[in-house]
Amino acid sequence: MKSYQADEKGYYGEFGGAFIPEMLYPNTEELRQNYIRIIEDPSFKKEFDLLLKDYVGRPTPLYFAGRLSEKYQTKIYLKREDLCHTGAHKVNNTIGQILMAKKLGKNRIIAETGAGQHGVATATVCALMGIECIVYMGEIDIARQAPNVARMKMLGAEVRPALSGSRTLKDATNEAIRDWINNPVNTHYIIGSVVGPHPYPDMVARFQSVISEEIKWQLLEKEGRENPDYVVACVGGGSNAAGAYYHFLDDEAIGIIAVEAAGKGIHSGKSAATSALGKVGIIHGSKTLLMQTQDGQITEPYSISAGLDYPGVGPMHANLYRSGRGEFISITDDEAMTAGLLVSQFEGIIPAIETSHAFAIFDHKKFKQEDVIVVNLSGRGDKDLQTYIDYFKL
Ligand SMILES: *Cc1c(COP(=O)(O)O)cnc(C)c1O
Repeated sequence: MKSYQADEKGYYGEFGGAFIPEMLYPNTEELRQNYIRIIEDPSFKKEFDLLLKDYVGRPTPLYFAGRLSEKYQTKIYLKREDLCHTGAHKVNNTIGQILMAKKLGKNRIIAETGAGQHGVATATVCALMGIECIVYMGEIDIARQAPNVARMKMLGAEVRPALSGSRTLKDATNEAIRDWINNPVNTHYIIGSVVGPHPYPDMVARFQSVISEEIKWQLLEKEGRENPDYVVACVGGGSNAAGAYYHFLDDEAIGIIAVEAAGKGIHSGKSAATSALGKVGIIHGSKTLLMQTQDGQITEPYSISAGLDYPGVGPMHANLYRSGRGEFISITDDEAMTAGLLVSQFEGIIPAIETSHAFAIFDHKKFKQEDVIVVNLSGRGDKDLQTYIDYFKL
């Protein structure tokens, strides 16, 4: 049977691998040699599951969205990752990685963050474990994302500004990699999505796969069958989507729908529709699809939602796109904002703007009345309230 999971070298079809400077090799190699053994160790699993339950608040509900279903004449379920501690799915991964770091004997954590959501999720688990935490963040992003900077500081993390280049996410990433090269023995680098060199995409997907693991038994309870007809998720780097798809990937009867940010329009020059616009290249140590100029310089992405504003996409998703296994739909800022308002008023749930993109597909694609569709509700909209206020003049 064809598999859409990573092979042992970290390839998804032609995408993935580990394209890293030689000086980083010992760090990723230590992780590569140990991560599967550790994740599959019963004592690790027990500790991970207990924290997911008591600290994160899992299992998150699978909620039948009655009014949305009626409006769109199909059956829509919402996987409520917005109810996770810290307000989104990201903490599933940071909990997994902090436990991994402990097993590997690391006592110092570094991370990079753009909008600050991953930085907050990392600072949270470092506080939980009493481990030193340094978060690299572009100087421009520090100014733009003041509330998340304050959260990280409150949680005891040090936020170090990246002062080079465009002073945004990719520069913060460069600083984090430099730090890791200089501190290979005591430091673990927590990457926030299914991106980066092998084994990160596969490791992060495994930590997030709890989402589809729960969907299976929850759907069995509610619908008498484990498998939906479609799973829908928004894709920035691709971690919430990877988690929602994970246990459904290799069953081609289940539709995989990936929603990307088209920003002001896919051909407007202001978008983050990475798969549709991307070309094969290397970013963050991984061969994947990324937005770049003719001569291979990475293009600045744009989206109204900070979490989808990433110039690349994880190698799993690049392969889902290229192979045709996944259906990719690009949604503009305006369509996402409209969908976010509609979900708020039909279900009493204000979604993160990232997730609002996923909801906008119902105005693009018609489903059958008996179809069962699971939308991964990746996060709550509290962090986006000001953007909603400005957009709708509330
Ligand atoms: C970070 C974030 C995303 C995008 O990241 P993925 O790795 O693609 O999941 C989506 N939704 C929310 C709420 C986020 O915070």
